[in-house]
Amino acid sequence: MTHSEALPQIAALDALDRAHLIHPVAPWRMHEARGPNILTGAQGIWLTDGRGHQLLDAFAGLWCVNVGYGQESVVQAAAEQMRKLPYATGYFHFSSEPAIRLADKLVQITPASLQHVYLTLGGSESIDAAVRFIVQYYNAIGKPGKKHFIALERGYHGSSSTGAGLTALPVFHRGFDLPLPTQHYIPSPNPYRAANPGDDQAIIDASVAALKAKVAELGADSVAAFFCEPIQGSGGVIVPPQGWLKAMREAARALDILFVVDEVITGFGRTGPMFACDAEGVDPDLMTVAKGLTSGYVPMGATLMSDKVYAAIADGAPKGAPIGHGATYSAHPVSAAVALEVLRLYEEGVLVNGQSVAPVFAQGLDDLMAHPLVGDSRHRGLLGALELVSNKASKAGFDAALDLPGRMAATSYRNGIVFRAFGDNILGFAPALTFTESDFGLMFERLKRTLDDVLAAPEVRAAL
Ligand code: PMP
Repeated sequence: MTHSEALPQIAALDALDRAHLIHPVAPWRMHEARGPNILTGAQGIWLTDGRGHQLLDAFAGLWCVNVGYGQESVVQAAAEQMRKLPYATGYFHFSSEPAIRLADKLVQITPASLQHVYLTLGGSESIDAAVRFIVQYYNAIGKPGKKHFIALERGYHGSSSTGAGLTALPVFHRGFDLPLPTQHYIPSPNPYRAANPGDDQAIIDASVAALKAKVAELGADSVAAFFCEPIQGSGGVIVPPQGWLKAMREAARALDILFVVDEVITGFGRTGPMFACDAEGVDPDLMTVAKGLTSGYVPMGATLMSDKVYAAIADGAPKGAPIGHGATYSAHPVSAAVALEVLRLYEEGVLVNGQSVAPVFAQGLDDLMAHPLVGDSRHRGLLGALELVSNKASKAGFDAALDLPGRMAATSYRNGIVFRAFGDNILGFAPALTFTESDFGLMFERLKRTLDDVLAAPEVRAAL
């Protein structure tokens, strides 16, 4: 079928979408009026929409399709597993080969502290499981008072009923009665907006001091854990100084609270090494992963934990009593088979490719600092952002009425490129780890054109 033949069908889908499909993190009424961008295909770094428009995907779907689209061996792995054993429960004592092999593989490739794996269907469920396991842990070791959780301002830890309260972004709280009284935040380590930009040690020291102060305020016997992303993704790709993660890990240890690293975005080569923890030799008590685990081809995530946490929970329950946490699709064999193949692709060259093109990505972003709209360029590995400002000296943003993010999103779509335009004038980028130098050439050409087009509007120029 040609794309012009497909058009009437797209119009019908458009109407059905508006009528019935609730979209995640969307303004529902605005969506009804605006309608969906229906995607119909993808290959390599390219997305195709229902009008046959080709879009260069500079965001790997939703920072997940790290191996790019159209990896035939991944499709094969899923098909073979579906033929052989499409479903096996992990409940009670049932198991399946892909789930077992995946748990073993994850233990091998994650920090040495992590020895046990609970397989989920995504990041939110992994965070939710981590919280529940931590509550079990403290009850099991006879410290039931330790029930308060600390996370970072602007952090994102999913949108489960508890996880959305660890997330510290207002839209995930508004109308949902969050955060819970047990959820607390400390400032995020934001080099661009720090009191003394460039003084990395001061940024690290401030975070450590804030964590200590928050624990002191809540009482050391009340705090269970500190959750953080190594680089804050949905909060605007906030890249802390090197050494920050390690310092926070040591602070958590000294404060006798569990240290939970959320590598849902940063895992699987996104920042260079397999995990962001690896860059600083960090050994968390728990770790959450998802996204790149299956490169988004099917849903899967995982919650990993140390032997100390595992053993306390295992031995804390009455003898023979199940630990009451699980879902029908926990340890799904098809997802696990896909994850194993995706992990093989990372190890067979995708990770190395990502590392080798990262300087091209970094240079492309840094070069755009010369653009009148760009105040900051920040990146690690293939995770990066540009922050748009109306005044480079004062770092002032833009009047919300100007809707710069909306303009960037609409203009970029017209120019055939997709990235994330965050509400506070931050543009996020997470290209697939399979990008070549020439892919980046095209990406930055389209990105520059988009910035130029947005700047061409008289009302935007007037705001500078
Ligand atoms: N943690 C982090 C750091 C994330 O970026 C996300 C998703 N963007 C989540 C958790 C939640 O993952 P999911 O959307 O798969 O539920």
